[in-house]
Amino acid sequence: MGLFERIRLLSAKNSLPHAVIFEGERAKEFSDFFAKTSVCDGENKPCGICRHCIKAEKGVHPDIIQLEPVGVSKNYKVDFVRNIKSDAFILPNEAEKKVYIFNEADNISEISQNALLKVIEEPPKSVIFIINCKEKSNLLDTIISRATIFRCDKDENEELDEESFEIINTAIQKSEYDFLSLLYNYSKEKQEFIRICDELVFSLRILYRAKIQNKDLGENKQLLEKLTLNRILNAIEILNDTKKSLLQNKAVKIVTARTCIKLKNALGR
Ligand SMILES: [Zn+2]
Repeated sequence: MGLFERIRLLSAKNSLPHAVIFEGERAKEFSDFFAKTSVCDGENKPCGICRHCIKAEKGVHPDIIQLEPVGVSKNYKVDFVRNIKSDAFILPNEAEKKVYIFNEADNISEISQNALLKVIEEPPKSVIFIINCKEKSNLLDTIISRATIFRCDKDENEELDEESFEIINTAIQKSEYDFLSLLYNYSKEKQEFIRICDELVFSLRILYRAKIQNKDLGENKQLLEKLTLNRILNAIEILNDTKKSLLQNKAVKIVTARTCIKLKNALGR
């Protein structure tokens, strides 16, 4: 199971951890997804359509606090970290949760980490702390032992889920009719179609990276041979446009039908 799925599942079970370390090259991507999931108040979190998801996506959610290290040393100053401790006790603005993300935390000093430790040891109920780093070995053991670790390397999760595989494969190999009928299954609910758009974009990005790096994707090899970089990018753009239209409340059946045709043209032939 990929990391996106794992995060969704934890959320569905209401057991998202309160202190998380994302370790690896794609830490930022996954921590943003995690934060969106934490503030979402829709179903199938992150639903992608509630006001929280939309703000999170635009990077303007007041309860997702992105923190960056400062200076050449890329440290988080100890006073800054201490201030967060008091800030954390202020209730969230809009969502049920408030999420602090320490980006690029590899060079955080020991003294600042000890201050951070005090915060994550006994966090207010509504607060989630996320630490992004390249290598967790740059962090103190005491921090590591209190957090849930997610590894997110470039190669991590480079597998297409079955659903995306079937859809992309159908677009490439089968008739327009087959493709339309397959996607029609997802068009009954807007939320469902948005979800599948997200999954497809995720899978197409995997294919894109594999193509650039000339990587062997095992059983997905055939898919890869039939696709060009341009086609993949085209498809991603179509899916992003589709999502935007759906978020603007355009009629789902019409949007879906149009997307089907465009996607088939982009990927198939
Ligand atoms: Zn949502």
